[in-house]
Amino acid sequence: MTRRLIAGARPLVLGALMLALAGPALAEPKVPPTPRAVVADPARDKDRPADMAAFQVDIAGSKVNAILYTASGAGPHPTMLFLHGFPGNETNIDLLQAVRRAGWNAMRINYRGSWGSQGKFSFANARADGEAAVAWLLDPANVAKYHIDPSRIVVAGHSMGGFMAADAVASEPRVAGAVLIDSWDIGSRSERITSAETRKTAIEAMRPDTAPLATTPEALVAEIERDADKLDLQKLTARIADRPLLLIGAEFAGAPTTRKLADAAKAANAKALTETYMATDHSFSDARIALEGEVIRWLARFEPKSAATAPFPPLKGAYDEGNIFARIIRGEAPSYKVYEDADVLAFMDRAPLEPGHVLVISKTSKARNLLEMDPKDIAKVMAVVQKVGQAEVDALGLEGFLILQNNGVGQSVPHLHIHVIPRVAGKPVYLVENKPADPKDLEAMAVRIKAAMKP
Ligand code: 5GP
Repeated sequence: MTRRLIAGARPLVLGALMLALAGPALAEPKVPPTPRAVVADPARDKDRPADMAAFQVDIAGSKVNAILYTASGAGPHPTMLFLHGFPGNETNIDLLQAVRRAGWNAMRINYRGSWGSQGKFSFANARADGEAAVAWLLDPANVAKYHIDPSRIVVAGHSMGGFMAADAVASEPRVAGAVLIDSWDIGSRSERITSAETRKTAIEAMRPDTAPLATTPEALVAEIERDADKLDLQKLTARIADRPLLLIGAEFAGAPTTRKLADAAKAANAKALTETYMATDHSFSDARIALEGEVIRWLARFEPKSAATAPFPPLKGAYDEGNIFARIIRGEAPSYKVYEDADVLAFMDRAPLEPGHVLVISKTSKARNLLEMDPKDIAKVMAVVQKVGQAEVDALGLEGFLILQNNGVGQSVPHLHIHVIPRVAGKPVYLVENKPADPKDLEAMAVRIKAAMKP
């Protein structure tokens, strides 16, 4: 099942929702669906499982600690570099793991002079470190070794890391986009340092956070005063507005700053700006799932084929004798069958949404979709759908199953087919793109379901 199926499935989901709601008809649900990667592990890829590489990147003679969570599968994989905040107590590792589950590599560094990385911490050094990490990801040797897609590198950062991410993106036109999470506009602090008194206040406010850093608050405040212009995040945001930009603000923390950054991006004619605010604190303490969902939904724009743009067979058109299901019916292409008679064929979907996902098709009708099908043929197909549903329930011990059928938009194979998908109590079904299953697993499942088919 491809992502195209999602679009087709949406009206069904919405329809059910609307029945439940007494509110205005056709209202979109306010909360977008949580992406599967936020809550579910992908299947282990036997040949290239997900992994973690821990290493040091040499930056100006200092060894900087880095980790790269590598995505499973052959790739090449899109890759997100994540730059942490000041000093980085909130690691956001859950976000990186979720992004990796979504098929992305995710890399994290500790800036020079922070958390065991060699060298001295300063804002200037942290900027150079983010830029060096991007250069590391684009290095052909690393691209090959870690299966990185260099055309899909995104840099994300939280708090001070939001600034560093914007800087890294501005420094390298090949970076595809930026995610700035409750960013710190470091330069704007200089506006508040107008006297010895305010300087002292700024230094003391910073002191507790400098404990894990090889620097002093005095040095950092002096750097802010000296380099205020270089540390102006509004200007930087305007410079990267030519690329897709996701700005996320925390209402109980840096949302006002994020709104200013959004204004700066808009004034610079932002090409693709996404702006969102969450009712939470600076660490997103009670919005971790929302944060992960937002980032992963946004990252989907870098998928080669998106649900929104996928081609689909128009509702009216000529039947294509070469479509894959016609070839399966003629025996020209393989399939794992669970049922066959003179009129109807049921076989395993090669990319099941749940193990046991079966497709039921007519062998005689040339209908591409439901509108084209003779009701007599619909009846024959539905009779087998009912048998398959029962067989899935019996073979797999299910408490339910789902019937899905795409017409036009959302459809990928132009021969009417009905999905019969097992539902497992307590386990949500995510209508997302999934990979072809291991043929051995499909075959074993076909044997079980076939054995449970009633005559
Ligand atoms: P649609 O997106 O059109 O509703 O669903 C088409 C379904 O056909 C998808 O779930 C997809 O995984 C499945 N499919 C596509 N090609 C093949 C194939 O060659 N063999 C089998 N068994 N299933 C296929």
